[in-house]
Amino acid sequence: MKIGFLGLGIMGSRMAANLLKAGYDIKVHNRTREKANELIKNGAEWAESPSELGAYVDVLFTMLEKPDIVEMIALGNDGFLQNMKEGSIWIDSSTVNPSFSERMNKEAEKSGVRFMDAPVSGSKQPAEDAELLFLVGGEKDDFEEVKDLFLKMGKDAIHIGSAGKGSAMKIMINQLLGQSILAFSESLNLGMAMGIDKKTGMDILLKTPVTAPIINAFRGRIENNEYEANFPLKHLQKDLHLFTETAYELGQPSPLTNTAKEVYGLAKHKNMADLDFTAVFKYLHEKE
Ligand code: NAP
Repeated sequence: MKIGFLGLGIMGSRMAANLLKAGYDIKVHNRTREKANELIKNGAEWAESPSELGAYVDVLFTMLEKPDIVEMIALGNDGFLQNMKEGSIWIDSSTVNPSFSERMNKEAEKSGVRFMDAPVSGSKQPAEDAELLFLVGGEKDDFEEVKDLFLKMGKDAIHIGSAGKGSAMKIMINQLLGQSILAFSESLNLGMAMGIDKKTGMDILLKTPVTAPIINAFRGRIENNEYEANFPLKHLQKDLHLFTETAYELGQPSPLTNTAKEVYGLAKHKNMADLDFTAVFKYLHEKE
């Protein structure tokens, strides 16, 4: 099976490395070629363009920043979709909005390509350790055909429903992620302003059931003020935007998410776009 991987950022580079480790022949492409160096050293082939990669593959994974970039790389001038063989499979693991995945599914159908949206839950370390959770939309038979590939990069893969349903589940998860860390940061910052020591405040908040359990995993970053990106803040803001955009499309109110999205947007204006998303604590903390 000829596998292609397009998008070798924080997540894609690690996911592709796990496919390689599992013994698959893979060919890769990325806008910034240097990010492929390690993979090429370990046996991956390089494709000069998305279109070259499209022509090569039986299965193509994309792991790109956001919908407009996926669209450009799939359908643009040198895009891969027009070159893919009939019956081949395109799996988009980028976090995008469900209506976008539905539209890409239709575009793929026009080329006789089978499409799946398969965003992941889990960040940099789970990507490295092959511990991701794949949330998959698309045809069930197609999902079964490639499930082993997911399991080489993740601990599980769940078929949620038709095309777009993986993306739907993913934006639900990240909406909670963004809100949880923001609510926690607001509470802890006021605690500190009221004279409660940061460590004590964290210890106690994390012991109570009102704090989201995942915040335990981020505690060290906030405690030590270390915000090197595992999950860049600009991507979390993008995900909240995808949630509010979808809510608008469906006529569903999303007041809290709209507010949270703007807080992350303001943090971006303070040069925090490429820091870890947990830097929203720092944004609320700094007085100027
Ligand atoms: P990243 O490190 O910023 O990588 C983004 C990828 O998109 C890179 O391959 C980048 O190419 C490419 N890209 C961006 N703009 C481009 C353009 N104009 N033209 C061509 N390529 C472009 O992001 P990441 O953290 O790996 O995230 C990738 C996706 O996974 C995002 O949708 C994100 O929301 C999602 N995700 C991330 C995490 C996480 O914890 N990091 C977890 C789950 C899901 P270059 O290398 O050339 O910049």
